[in-house]
Amino acid sequence: MHYFRLCPPLYESDLQRSRQNPLEVIDEFSIPGIKCDSCGQIWAGSRKLYLPLAEAVRKSGLAKQLRPGVLQDSDWHRLIEDLRAVMGLPEDYQFWPGDALGRPILKLNRIDVPHDVLFPWTGEVVVSERVLNLLREADLKGFIAIEPSVRLPKKLELEGGTIPRLFVLRVVGHGWREGSNLEDMVVCKRCGRRKHPPKISSRIDVSRWDGSDFFNLDLNPNEVYVTDKAREVLASPGTNNIRLEELC
Ligand SMILES: [Zn+2]
Repeated sequence: MHYFRLCPPLYESDLQRSRQNPLEVIDEFSIPGIKCDSCGQIWAGSRKLYLPLAEAVRKSGLAKQLRPGVLQDSDWHRLIEDLRAVMGLPEDYQFWPGDALGRPILKLNRIDVPHDVLFPWTGEVVVSERVLNLLREADLKGFIAIEPSVRLPKKLELEGGTIPRLFVLRVVGHGWREGSNLEDMVVCKRCGRRKHPPKISSRIDVSRWDGSDFFNLDLNPNEVYVTDKAREVLASPGTNNIRLEELC
């Protein structure tokens, strides 16, 4: 079995990167960052949970607090407890600082997006309806396709035109590299802050990989990996805005 890291091509400049990927994903809601009393650090991660918010959360006023920023330790934990309670989530449901919630918002800087696979930011993958259909036809696992709400700059709104149907892929498959594990990564039990393991091995521990075609490794949401089966579909004609680096 071969595995590949799914990433954008190496662009010559940031300008070229944004021309080829003329879009941005904005979080509708997010868990604030924390200033942890135990380790003293201020931090927020970048996990894209896109958990739909129950109507109760929107009505409770909690939604107003779900935005970027930093909360003191006790306020942060109180918010999480309230959120779990209002959403009916179990007490051990883990939110992390920075988690994106709600329905993603796609800010398009062009209507005629140039590619079928787009990378708004590290770890973020957006695909056209055509590519999503190919992924589904091939019965690939490990992702949830979310149709975002789309936002256009005023100028484009006035010009009109057909807005393309695009989908944000939320990667849900997971695995671990050989030698890495959660216990060694957690540096603070209070806030759950982790350091990513030094890349002792780039090999996947197949016994701890869930078999998904799209997956993250070592709980790092910023890198997306795919199987051979997914690579074949993604490398099909028309999807030229991608680079697949083989893991050795
Ligand atoms: Zn901490």
